[in-house]
Amino acid sequence: MAATQIPEVVLESSNGRRTMPVLGFGTGADKLQPDVFIAAVLEAIKLGYRHFDTAAIYGSEQSLGEAIAQALKLGLVGSRDDLFVTSKLWAHDAHPHLVIPALKKSLQNLQLEYLDLYLIHWPISAPPGKLTLSIAEKDLMPMDFKGVWADMEEAQRLGLTKSIGVSNFSSRKIENLLSFATIPPSVDQVEMNPLWQQKRLRDFCKAKGIVVTAFSPLGAIGTSWGTNHVLESKVLNEIAEARGKTVAQVCIRWVYQVGATLAVKSYNKERLKQNAQVFDWELSQEDLDKISQIPQRKMIRREDLISANGPYKSLEDLWDGEI
Ligand code: NAP
Repeated sequence: MAATQIPEVVLESSNGRRTMPVLGFGTGADKLQPDVFIAAVLEAIKLGYRHFDTAAIYGSEQSLGEAIAQALKLGLVGSRDDLFVTSKLWAHDAHPHLVIPALKKSLQNLQLEYLDLYLIHWPISAPPGKLTLSIAEKDLMPMDFKGVWADMEEAQRLGLTKSIGVSNFSSRKIENLLSFATIPPSVDQVEMNPLWQQKRLRDFCKAKGIVVTAFSPLGAIGTSWGTNHVLESKVLNEIAEARGKTVAQVCIRWVYQVGATLAVKSYNKERLKQNAQVFDWELSQEDLDKISQIPQRKMIRREDLISANGPYKSLEDLWDGEI
């Protein structure tokens, strides 16, 4: 099968003119099996994936770096410049003066000289030290947004990353960031799928020239943080059946058609292929209208985080409307 040509979007505010493939390969998973992971990345590159989404906290940077090195050696891509690699700054490093060392550590893990995109992972900080997904309630700290963003800007100016952005930021938090940023964020990566459509945030970002990237576009089915509700949605199943597509394809196509980009995770060859086969057909206006009527149901909910003893326990500041 010929590799799929994945469309790209232009990222504003980057170092030079930069584009990002709209479909990214997600690397955030409950368990990382390096061999399975590396094989999946190589398969994805053969299928046409060029955008890889990782983060310091995922523990996937090293294996992604290994996979990229192998892909280059095998000649699957001409050069590193043909790939788009995103990584993210975790809460323990989200302090002024720790951003650039954290980014350099990510680059070292990835065996790369630059990132294409570096995001603030969540709008929270925790005491500097070992990175842990779970952060005790007493350790949650409000972020020094001005200081951290100044370092993000410096990282872009130094060429350590071509673009900078945020993740899990509401429009209110972005508005605050824009009030002092000299380089506006290029991207906001947030939970988004047909059951959590982020219409208001999307409209806001569009007006500001910020690209929205959807994470958990399939509702993260099968993961410890995910839900079956997205892929089991009656409306989505009816549309998928009528179009001869899978529900996953309908979700991915919907994200693309409403103007967002996405990171989807699969380490399975068939599903990787299926997830990329969404650019030669379209949802009708009637389909889009039906999807827009789906009752909204956020996956990562405040109650879940509290009851699950999750990392963001009771930080009211996280839940200011959209995220
Ligand atoms: P997702 O991509 O919505 O769902 C992943 C799950 O769907 C996996 O269990 C995968 O299993 C399954 N799957 C994939 N394709 C499928 C298909 N065609 N049919 C049925 N099942 C399918 O969720 P996600 O992993 O949470 O989100 C994607 C990426 O976004 C992550 O990997 C990570 O890079 C990023 N992310 C970012 C944040 C953030 O805070 N910024 C948070 C969460 C995720 P198989 O592997 O077995 O196919």
